Amino acid sequence: AKAEGKGVVRLFSPKAKTQTLQGLTLENDLRRAIKRDEFLLVYQPKRCIATGAITGVEALLRWRHPELGLLPPDRFIPIAEESGLIVPMGKWVMERACAQHMAWRAQGLGPVSVAVNLSPRQLYDDHIVSDICEALAKAGMEPDWLELEITENMVMQDAGDALMVLRAIKETGVKLAIDDFGAGHTSFALIRQIPLDKIKIDRSFVNDILTDPNDRAIAEAIISLGQALKLRVVAEGVETEAQEAFLREHGCNEIQGYLFSRPLEADALHAFVSDHNLGRLL
Ligand code: C2E
Ligand code: CA
Ligand code: CA
Ligand code: CA
Repeated sequence: AKAEGKGVVRLFSPKAKTQTLQGLTLENDLRRAIKRDEFLLVYQPKRCIATGAITGVEALLRWRHPELGLLPPDRFIPIAEESGLIVPMGKWVMERACAQHMAWRAQGLGPVSVAVNLSPRQLYDDHIVSDICEALAKAGMEPDWLELEITENMVMQDAGDALMVLRAIKETGVKLAIDDFGAGHTSFALIRQIPLDKIKIDRSFVNDILTDPNDRAIAEAIISLGQALKLRVVAEGVETEAQEAFLREHGCNEIQGYLFSRPLEADALHAFVSDHNLGRLL
């Protein structure tokens, strides 16, 4: 018999096999989806606590699957990440988000920054810096309106490499935010070395900020850390007025969450932001 090689068929348990088949089907669907333009971005506003104005949005990816309907990212990002498809997809996300930012401005919407999530595979891809520059150049967008969100674990994976890439990214002039802060493995020494502009408090702490003394202590500590390092602090997943009041009182800078708005498609976002920011001035 042939020596075991690439083409060898191994024995799977029935369950593992189903999962693999589903994964493979989805991966093929993903490849097709890129060609067929089945992805779209929705945008969730962030409100500045001090001024009440909407100052930015976060772009969130959705897949309009022909049979399964609108899929949230946790249904397909892991497969995209594993297969490497996240790299071209993530490039599309940056380009789409930059183009949308410029389209809103052309439609008379005051400039709101746009944030995009980066995946680990993207961060460690050789072309990340040129992809960022290309997205900005194609849209004709100034870099300081684009914000890139990374997570702690992405940096901890390979701290030396990550710092080099993050510094190169920062040189392009875009803003950097650390996402889901507090949920991953953090080294304060490392956080200090990353050229950060923003910290986002993970939703899990915001959730029980009023009821769980531990979560409250962590949220307060993150806000203090942000203030000490002169970073803007954003709380994500804010769902109640009481949570907002707490965050305001403790010096958090921005909030994002269902209390305020769910992620919206581009036109709805435009209407929401102009109503909101205009209503504030009247
Ligand atoms: P994330 O970056 O932490 O994004 C925030 C998630 O929290 C979004 O889920 C948003 O819809 C949800 N959210 C916002 N406010 C609230 C709230 O008040 N309550 C609750 N329960 N949820 C809230 P979504 O859109 O399903 O995205 C999930 C994750 O998928 C994101 O988490 C991000 O890690 C990833 N993701 C989304 N778009 C992209 C993308 O373009 N590229 C990459 N690499 N990852 C993405
Ligand atoms: Ca994010
Ligand atoms: Ca988060
Ligand atoms: Ca997340």
